[in-house]
Amino acid sequence: MLKVGLTGGIGAGKTTAAKMFAELGCHVIDADSITRDLFKPGHPVRTLVAAAFGPAVVASDGSIDRKVLGELVFRDEGLRQKLNGIVHPAILQRQKAFLDVASGVDPDGIGMVEAALMVEAGTYKNYDKLVVVITSPEIQRQRLRERTNLTGDEIEARIGAQLPMPEKAKFADYIIDNSGTLEDMRRQVETIYYELRGLELAMGGDSDKRD
Ligand code: ATP
Repeated sequence: MLKVGLTGGIGAGKTTAAKMFAELGCHVIDADSITRDLFKPGHPVRTLVAAAFGPAVVASDGSIDRKVLGELVFRDEGLRQKLNGIVHPAILQRQKAFLDVASGVDPDGIGMVEAALMVEAGTYKNYDKLVVVITSPEIQRQRLRERTNLTGDEIEARIGAQLPMPEKAKFADYIIDNSGTLEDMRRQVETIYYELRGLELAMGGDSDKRD
């Protein structure tokens, strides 16, 4: 199975691209939905986060309130690292388990992991190929303003906590420029998908890690 990482700036369109790749037949898992699951009542990660950050981050249903937690960690690099130290190992374990299962079911397929911080965390090295979704800074801010309930300051804090998109793009094997319409994005996703398929076929399902 060809293992592909999908990353990009906050609000750049990673989830939208991931859905398009999934529609084409890729096996896709996204870090955001893993985190939501890990933060549900009963999960040990949720218990560790609640213990580390206090009752203010626990919602009335017992899960971790991601908005409250986000307000804390995006203001403070030390707290962000503390959270990442708790959550990242569990996310990586889930991603690996997902790819192992997908590879067993579809050894000649494409397994894709979507995550925002792959370049920052160095985990992009776990994949054979890396796709980076970028957009212009203006469109990124405009989409975040229109589609989230984040304030201007919260948006800037989140953008500031990530490597700038042009820096991320330097790590890419494939770049999706999502500054245009959804149809523009779909065309780019299709082109990349067929290139990835060609690679997987050429490697006969025996693709190596990128390094
Ligand atoms: P996050 O970092 O917050 O998880 P993301 O990178 O996964 O974001 P998406 O959730 O895919 O980004 O996109 C952000 C918002 O912009 C969504 O509401 C999505 O529907 C919208 N969007 C994405 N691409 C386009 C586009 N080309 N045209 C218009 N809207 C778009």
